[in-house]
Amino acid sequence: MIDYNSPICLRLDSHALVSNWKALAKLSGSAVTGAAVKADGYGLGAPQVVKRLWNAGCRDFFVAHWAEAAKLVDIIPPGHIAVLNGIGEGDVNMARSLGAIPVLNTPLQVNAWKEAGGGQCHVMLDTGINRLGIGPEQAHSGLFEGLDIDILLSHLASADEDVQQNQTQLKCFYQISSSISCKRRSFANSAGIMLGDKYHFDLTRPGLSLYGGIARSEMSGIIKPVVYIKAKVLQIRELNRGEPIGYNAAYRCTEPVRTATLAIGYADGYARAFSNKGQVWFGGYMLPVIGKVSMDLLVVDASTVPLLHEGDLLDVDYDLQNAGAVSGLSQYELLTGLSKRARISWT
Ligand SMILES: *Cc1c(COP(=O)(O)O)cnc(C)c1O
Repeated sequence: MIDYNSPICLRLDSHALVSNWKALAKLSGSAVTGAAVKADGYGLGAPQVVKRLWNAGCRDFFVAHWAEAAKLVDIIPPGHIAVLNGIGEGDVNMARSLGAIPVLNTPLQVNAWKEAGGGQCHVMLDTGINRLGIGPEQAHSGLFEGLDIDILLSHLASADEDVQQNQTQLKCFYQISSSISCKRRSFANSAGIMLGDKYHFDLTRPGLSLYGGIARSEMSGIIKPVVYIKAKVLQIRELNRGEPIGYNAAYRCTEPVRTATLAIGYADGYARAFSNKGQVWFGGYMLPVIGKVSMDLLVVDASTVPLLHEGDLLDVDYDLQNAGAVSGLSQYELLTGLSKRARISWT
């Protein structure tokens, strides 16, 4: 149940999460669909996300760190968890004891895995993002000899844009991967799924859009919001023309203003980038954020809603596309920045 006595309520919609995964699975055609649950399930709580997606039929989960994998092994069999950052010195023992599968990203990691006795692994090829993975110049056939590769991965740099780089990476992935033996190939993130079947291979790996992110505009209408935020009104004031609001007087009333102070701030993940820009709703009325967002508080202009009272709960606009446009933050940052101080309820 939602505890509306908490000053901030973060409602996470299980049905929307599962519906998004199913929609992405459908868009992935004949490819199987996994889930990126790194960064604690993009801030929403990896265990809760994984439980729901496992029950929906998802079997391939991606985290970045071994510590993230460790939090999931009591929930699902470890063989279904891939660790994207791979193995550093000392991680081999962790990998062995957990049973999660490393994504090997460098020739050094490949050799370390072989020396440790090998076993099932995944391999990341870098086809042009030039961030992490075995580059074309490093991917000589001898390197992979004797490896038991389940998933051969690569990652797109600009799938959210219509640029030549997508085709260039695709061609590179076809070329390099054709000579490496593996069980499955995986290329597309959320945005990559929308680029068409050629990009799907055997397994897709959406993250953002599971959680309601609109990775490409074609997804709006298909992907549903998962995160809803309510914050409590702590105080209502009537201010005069010319009075300043909040730190550094970043807003000054140009007329008499009825203000409402809400119990939410950047420590809750509601970023300072929403200062003088964020939007909060009371029924059909939009109340703009005025002044700077503080750590625990923000002020909105409630002049249009005389019925608003101290103790009321307002809906903080966290529609990822709109909130992203307003704040200049990426949808990824909006999700992963959410903090655990809020009362979180999955419905
Ligand atoms: C984060 C990540 C994904 C998911 O990407 P989204 O853009 O969130 O869908 C897929 N693959 C890799 C390697 C990643 O790091």
